[in-house]
Amino acid sequence: MSTPASTTGSAAPVLLVEDVTKSHPGGVTALDRVSLRVDAGELVAIVGPSGSGKSTLLHIMGTLDRSTNGSVRIAGHDVHALGDRHLSALRARLLGFVFQHFHLTDGLDATENVATGLLYAGVPRRRRETLAREALARVGLDHRRSHLPQQLSGGERQRVAIARALVNGPALVLADEPTGALDAANGEAVLRLLADLNTQGTTIALITHDRDIAARLPRRVELRDGRITADVTGVVRAA
Ligand code: ADP
Ligand code: MG
Repeated sequence: MSTPASTTGSAAPVLLVEDVTKSHPGGVTALDRVSLRVDAGELVAIVGPSGSGKSTLLHIMGTLDRSTNGSVRIAGHDVHALGDRHLSALRARLLGFVFQHFHLTDGLDATENVATGLLYAGVPRRRRETLAREALARVGLDHRRSHLPQQLSGGERQRVAIARALVNGPALVLADEPTGALDAANGEAVLRLLADLNTQGTTIALITHDRDIAARLPRRVELRDGRITADVTGVVRAA
């Protein structure tokens, strides 16, 4: 797998989280003064046990939820300064999401599912289809482009979801337990695909509770009880 590029030519990091706290109603502090910087070209694991705050952090990094305190910048944009409409536009332009359970739309074929990743980016329909087919080819699913989700295996569905996350050329892909619903072989294939995409330049933050998966990624940020307890760069074990 690749080594992370810690710096690039661009001025701002793709993600800058500073001193973020998130309190949920009922008094749960899901994140406690978390700071995290991700630069272009990185492949970083955010690893921790259940309840440690991983999903909360992913939602805040992805501008799907707002922090209680602290600041979040995506490619230099201060998320807290933006209203909902601007945030949607920022997500459409700069972010891609991959979820554990794929979140594909049942009635749409693979190409149409991937094209939905461009719906809010103002791309004309024909262009959406072309870009969707290119993204499907990148994940090795050109031959499945007219299949519906229910005609695809779990591993193929996740590759469609990855193509959808890539189709807008995002600055950062956020993947929440992307292998969590897959068997070992398909999980392995998805992990290798994400590593290959990173080698080709895609910046990825991958959330996992699985220490073996995290150990294979070039950088690991460890969360425990809503706090970062370690942030280590260097591959522990070869893929
Ligand atoms: P993880 O993804 O690591 O399992 P979460 O980010 O989902 O952890 O949750 C972190 C903590 O915040 C847990 O204690 C969880 O119960 C709590 N939590 C998460 N979402 C909410 C919510 N919407 N309301 C109240 N508490 C929540
Ligand atoms: Mg979670």
